Amino acid sequence: MGSPTTVRVAIAGSTGSIGTQTLDVVRAENARPDRDVEYVVTALGVGSSIDALVAQAREFSVGVVAVADPARVAEVREALPGVVIEPTMSDLVAHADVVVNAVVGFAGLDVTLATLAAGKRLALANKESLIAAGPVVRPLRSTPGAEIVPVDSEHCAVHQCLRSTVREGVEVARIVLTASGGPFRGRGVDDLRDVTVDQALAHPTWSMGPKITIDSSTLMNKGLEVIEAHELFGVPYDRIEVVVHPQSVVHSMVEFTDGCTMAQLSLPDMRLPIGYALAHPHRIATPFGRIDWSRLERLDFAPPDRGTFRCLDLAYEAGRVGGTAPAFMSAANEVAVERFLEGGMRWTAIAETVESALQSHVTPSGELTAHDIVEADQRGREAARRVLSR
Ligand code: NAD
Ligand code: MG
Repeated sequence: MGSPTTVRVAIAGSTGSIGTQTLDVVRAENARPDRDVEYVVTALGVGSSIDALVAQAREFSVGVVAVADPARVAEVREALPGVVIEPTMSDLVAHADVVVNAVVGFAGLDVTLATLAAGKRLALANKESLIAAGPVVRPLRSTPGAEIVPVDSEHCAVHQCLRSTVREGVEVARIVLTASGGPFRGRGVDDLRDVTVDQALAHPTWSMGPKITIDSSTLMNKGLEVIEAHELFGVPYDRIEVVVHPQSVVHSMVEFTDGCTMAQLSLPDMRLPIGYALAHPHRIATPFGRIDWSRLERLDFAPPDRGTFRCLDLAYEAGRVGGTAPAFMSAANEVAVERFLEGGMRWTAIAETVESALQSHVTPSGELTAHDIVEADQRGREAARRVLSR
């Protein structure tokens, strides 16, 4: 057998839930004696979790890092002599063939834009950048060599289901995104007014970073994923549906014009979609858990409770308005979620804040630029803060 092909991987947001699981995949795949691909982690970026970054950089002999928090750069320089410290997250792109965007929130925008502009593969976990900047990302996707392979499990599932057609544009009847329903599935608004941060953070099937876990409890995560699916696959909103599926085994489905539905099933483990995005169009050889059909017994499906979980429809509305509305809404949501996580407001106020903030949104005229998106993000944050200070 010849020596393995080398794939250089950069991870922006390497110390978070997705970032660390990306390193798990790399460790597992590189440990296989029969591997035909060697993943070389060339560059890592973080917000401010310096100790974890330094440990990762040493373990993987990484030559390039970036740190978003300027106050922590000096410590990193001292801890990692000889390692290049790039001034921004997007400078990591130059060092890789595949860029994993595992930054949380709108802060991931630059990495998404820079990766596509450089004509490289974007393994996209950071849904907020695509949701906010859809109109700016769309043209960049035709840069030669550029491609987005989704890491979000639902979109990874859809991506896999779509491989059963060669005429995506005409043969897809609808996309059905599955939602676990989060920790508050089955409960009504009156019952949810006094839930605590810890209760909202107790996700039944996935262990994830705090922001997306709160988004899962409000169904905003699913709403953001509806916009994400629209952007990724170009399917209109009235053909993207959401179904609650508490077991999180069916990760999403695509129905075709002949009535055939393809679904992707696996245990809920993000290392599968991460590995899929790294290896595409091939597959990694490590199974991170396998379904035991003798124990699975049942798969349940039910419609979402749109009255209690208002954020789902708020996201559909923002998606349909388009322009800068998704950026504005996602920004208002980030502010509300941060405030909730700090213990500063009720869980029910998240949807109320986003809804009130959205009333002041106006899309600027003309073709949207990255600057317009950044401004919309700022206006969305200000609008949410105004609502919260009332
Ligand atoms: P997390 O909070 O666990 O990790 C976030 C990472 O981003 C950390 O490494 C942090 O240092 C870094 N970071 C924070 N601010 C930054 C900044 N300003 N610039 C650069 N880096 C910064 O988050 P997560 O759960 O890993 O989620 C990351 C992204 O993946 C989110 O967009 C989330 O919606 C998406 N996602 C996560 C999961 C999951 O299972 N965790 C599943 C699907 C999608
Ligand atoms: Mg998801």
